[in-house]
Amino acid sequence: MANMNGTNVQTKENVSEKEKTNPKCNMYEIITKKRNGCELSPEEILFFVKGYVGGEIPDYQASALLMAIYFQGMNKQELTCLTQNMLASGDSISLDGIRGKKIDKHSTGGVGDKISFIVSPLVAACGIYVPMLSGRSLGHTGGTLDKLESIPNFDVFLTADQFQSILNDVGMVICGQTENIVPADRKLYALRDATATVESIPLITASIMSKKLAIGTDGIVLDVKTGSGAFMRREEDSVTLCKTMVEVGEESGRTTIGLITDMDQPLGNAVGNSLEIIESIEALKGSGPIDLMTVTFGLGAAMLMAAGAADDFWKAHKKLKQVLASGKPLEIFKKFIAAHGGDPAICDNYSLLPQSKYILDFCAPGSGIISKINAYEVGMTAVDIGAGRRKKEDAIDHSAGFVFRKKVGDLVKAGDPILTLYTNRNETIPDALARLEKATEISKQKIIKRPLIHYLIDKDGIHPTRV
Ligand code: URA
Repeated sequence: MANMNGTNVQTKENVSEKEKTNPKCNMYEIITKKRNGCELSPEEILFFVKGYVGGEIPDYQASALLMAIYFQGMNKQELTCLTQNMLASGDSISLDGIRGKKIDKHSTGGVGDKISFIVSPLVAACGIYVPMLSGRSLGHTGGTLDKLESIPNFDVFLTADQFQSILNDVGMVICGQTENIVPADRKLYALRDATATVESIPLITASIMSKKLAIGTDGIVLDVKTGSGAFMRREEDSVTLCKTMVEVGEESGRTTIGLITDMDQPLGNAVGNSLEIIESIEALKGSGPIDLMTVTFGLGAAMLMAAGAADDFWKAHKKLKQVLASGKPLEIFKKFIAAHGGDPAICDNYSLLPQSKYILDFCAPGSGIISKINAYEVGMTAVDIGAGRRKKEDAIDHSAGFVFRKKVGDLVKAGDPILTLYTNRNETIPDALARLEKATEISKQKIIKRPLIHYLIDKDGIHPTRV
């Protein structure tokens, strides 16, 4: 049996006849079967999802099954079936009333990842509708909704009708998920979080893809990050996760394309909510940093391909550059802000965004070439100074964060500013500076830069891009 999480699987041949063929759905036998490496039937998967969401299956049995899946994995049929049953546990948003191609983009999360704000208006300016349901900050990674809420009065909560109407009028919409979208994931994710079963490729895939499939799009583009600030740090794990999600998306009838993109250092220069909004607006004005724009154009090109609006990655790339220069994406972004209740004047007057009382530089402790900026450590330091949450109920300082002046590969002299730190929490500054020093390495030797886009993965396989 194919295993999707790289662990050893006990083959069916080693398992008793009774375990292989027992048709009854009872949780004890389902757990035993999976523990022994057998394939679960569609009835058993349905029994588990329905029973757990309905409260008939207790947490301890659901936890045991999750752990068995963690160790034994799931094959393609089981995984598609789990995803479909999770999807069926709640509501879906139909976009049938919108005439045109609808493409969603999902990122597995990172530090300084503000691509949604740039790529959505860019792709919308090409005539493709971009609907997104997004989340809040999680651990060291920033949250799209938190970043949008740094815009005064911006409302991230929409009804299904508002969601469709903004999408139709503006060409893009980003909002928070409602309680009724994939309730099975909410319950299972909380259990996984408490039982050390989050880091399982089949469980991550079913969790992400069930939510993506709940919006009636034609295609899905996945940005699977890799490196120190990514959910999956090792490239091979990111590739396996992406390939698995592409398979489930395609099996479910959606064109699905994934890119493996680099998250070994923060993306772009800004980290933190309002600072990332400013950098996104600058990018829409044509002044985005190269790394951010390279990944943005790559994902945008994949979105055009998923929509059938381009058949060549590089031609699509070129088209997006021309569209950006036309100024139309910035106009769409302004319309999007206004449709959500925010003031588009922030695009021309950044002082309307939250401001920090304390602004200071973190400077290079020595001279040489910057060889590492650990994205995880930067993300956690951003949380420490107020840009993220330690607990779900914590308040965020929307102005807090960093703007990098130097990145990996840049030459620095001792005392040169590496980044500027912004916060309203004065007391957090000394520890933050110490942590940033540990996160940054300066070398005397030349370094080999990592690619920004490692691979493109589609139904035909894994294609190296090495951009
Ligand atoms: N994000 C999700 O939505 N689910 C997971 O399991 C992991 C990351």
